[in-house]
Amino acid sequence: MKITVLGAGAMGALFGGLLAEAGHAVTLLDVNDAHIEQVRTHGLRLITDAADRRVRVPILRPEQATEVPDWLLVFTKTLHTERALAAVVGLIGPHTRVLSLQNGLGNAERLAVQVPWERIAVGVTTVPADLQAPGQVHSGGQGHVRMMWAEGHDDPALARLAEALTDVGLHGTVDPGVKAAIWEKVAFNAALNSLCAVTGCTVGEIGAHAASRTLAHAIASEVLAVARQSGVQARDAVHGVLDHAMDHHLHHKPSMLQDVLAGRPTEIEAINGEVVRQAASLGCAVPLTDTLATLVRLREQAGSRR
Ligand code: NAD
Repeated sequence: MKITVLGAGAMGALFGGLLAEAGHAVTLLDVNDAHIEQVRTHGLRLITDAADRRVRVPILRPEQATEVPDWLLVFTKTLHTERALAAVVGLIGPHTRVLSLQNGLGNAERLAVQVPWERIAVGVTTVPADLQAPGQVHSGGQGHVRMMWAEGHDDPALARLAEALTDVGLHGTVDPGVKAAIWEKVAFNAALNSLCAVTGCTVGEIGAHAASRTLAHAIASEVLAVARQSGVQARDAVHGVLDHAMDHHLHHKPSMLQDVLAGRPTEIEAINGEVVRQAASLGCAVPLTDTLATLVRLREQAGSRR
């Protein structure tokens, strides 16, 4: 398969590297020059439970790419999707399908600005990845990828991609119920990412106090209520996942906290921000989610000052 990865940071480099290693014709696209330089000179260093190796994979700036791929995998942060996609619109041929496994809500809508709806797939992944240094990605443990066509139609191209992901250890499945999983992950992230980003606490520190634990669950409940009001049967199981994270991932700093500490903008608009907007259109009250969105925006404005 000819696969182009738009945004070759932690997740894009992991997916692209594993697929390239398996023999697919992968091209990575990114705008981080230090990362591009490392991958070009030394190969992509891919550290997984299976091995620590270097994978040779072409990497370009988006404007340099010319090959029309079978699949475009979008792995920028959500706030960069539209600009990134606009730069590669010439790569989206009549048979190119586009997949987003980004966190948050509204990913299909952002792609649909440039891509016909019938060629957009969305999904959710529990595969973790971390860009440890330019040119070096780490992923520990197992995860899976669940995907569906945004319009819910039937096109075997997605099953073939799922098979390719499974073959490289990423456990891909086509799952028409993935919308609920997307909302459940949003509920989890709206609670813990925003609370950690605003307070500077790790996940374990949020879980260490009854009041902050209760707050995390209350935010998640607000998000689940919006999902259900919009017709998506998101499950309460997310509360168990929150408890598990607060009890076991004690030192984890969610990406939103890492972003504010580094003075980078966060994905707050695709997570709490989008929940608030959808809640307003459905007539649901989400005061906690809304408050956290405001606080994270203020935290972003303060930059990397603690
Ligand atoms: P990341 O910041 O490591 O990677 C994003 C990459 O996009 C960066 O390398 C950046 O340089 C690049 N980029 C930015 N603007 C671009 C542009 N205009 N054109 C091309 N590239 C551009 O982020 P990540 O952790 O890989 O996350 C990507 C998405 O996947 C996010 O939505 C995130 O929430 C989601 N996600 C991450 C994980 C994880 O464990 N890291 C797990 C599940 C989902």
